[in-house]
Amino acid sequence: MKRAVYVNCDGLCTDWISPERTPVLAALSARGLRCAEHRAIFPSVTRASAAAVATGCRPIRHGLHGNRMGLLEDGRIVVRDAGPPDFRGHMRKALGRTLRVPTMAERVAKHGGFVAYSNVSPGAAYFLDPDEHGEVRHRAGSNGPGGLAVPTLPVKAGLEGDIAMAGLFCDEVLREKPRAISVMWFGDPDLTMHNAPIGSPTHMAALRQIDDLVGKVAATVDALRAKGEDILLLVGSDHGHETITKGVNVTAWLDENGFGALREGGQLAFATQGTAALLYAIGEAERVVPEVIAKLKSASWVGEIAMGAELERLGIAPEGGLVVGISLARSPEPNDFGVSGQRWAAYNGSEFKGLGFGQHGGWGPDETRPFLIVDHPAGKPARETERTSLIDIAPTILTFLGLPTDGMEGKPLAWG
Ligand SMILES: [Zn+2]
Repeated sequence: MKRAVYVNCDGLCTDWISPERTPVLAALSARGLRCAEHRAIFPSVTRASAAAVATGCRPIRHGLHGNRMGLLEDGRIVVRDAGPPDFRGHMRKALGRTLRVPTMAERVAKHGGFVAYSNVSPGAAYFLDPDEHGEVRHRAGSNGPGGLAVPTLPVKAGLEGDIAMAGLFCDEVLREKPRAISVMWFGDPDLTMHNAPIGSPTHMAALRQIDDLVGKVAATVDALRAKGEDILLLVGSDHGHETITKGVNVTAWLDENGFGALREGGQLAFATQGTAALLYAIGEAERVVPEVIAKLKSASWVGEIAMGAELERLGIAPEGGLVVGISLARSPEPNDFGVSGQRWAAYNGSEFKGLGFGQHGGWGPDETRPFLIVDHPAGKPARETERTSLIDIAPTILTFLGLPTDGMEGKPLAWG
């Protein structure tokens, strides 16, 4: 049986890969196909990215707007966090569905099966397979095909958990119970970068640790290949990070600009996405959208604004009340470790954390450049210089498995 393995190193921008910092990833790059112009989706956040990896489609087609999303509930826009385990229930109630398009898990349910081990938020794990066609293992709860009970993943959030998860994935999945598609999604270096300056020794140590874990997976795959197994290995990330130096409370901003009543009435709301924000307007609020946009254009925290066809070009549909996407302002000054770029980040009501640390979500230059390496013994060392993105992963895997890719936005990568 052919099988494909995808390993996601959350938050790892392609610029950090080098023989000194990440010897394993550098060596894999040198022997496989390195996608030199790989890009994130918008918003460049983990939950919508997991859905993009799973479906081969951007939010415009898969329907999950970001890490947080406005849902129409009883005539009000309710912004909900897609991270907690119960979000899928709210999404089904509001929209009658989770994702609008099939996942890889659904497509291989009768062709060898799907399994994912994930150490990010529950939502980012479950959106790899939200309707339970395969197996998803996470510390907050796990499921097998059809909602079958399987053991919870016995790992904690953080690097120690990533180390434990990699060991379990190599033993339980790769060696003992292979499936047509297996995914492992590390929480680092993303988690460390949200809590330490970019380029700091703490960041570098996390990078090195994740690189070492990728080495364990690659060695396991190589050993299985030596026994005659045909395995396609993809290693990549979902987005990069940029330094945040200022925060804006977008709820307070609406109130200060005279839109408090519409906000309280559930007609106008922001769904924050780190260095991006999505604005929703319904009912009475639709008529004030031009006024809100005019005020946004003069706000110091706003970088670029997209609406209508421009939103669609970014891969997200102006639907369900979504009217505006914002990438927050950036200035080029370096941080204390010489990494250029300082950003605003959006928050919504609660206290702002993480100044001086990494964040992502918008369409800034570093947060939108994850990496992707495709490795197979039949492939030659190569660099793909055409633009690729997260949505090319699923069609590449399905094409390798000999399965159709109908309905996907992405294109299979030519690695052979
Ligand atoms: Zn992520």
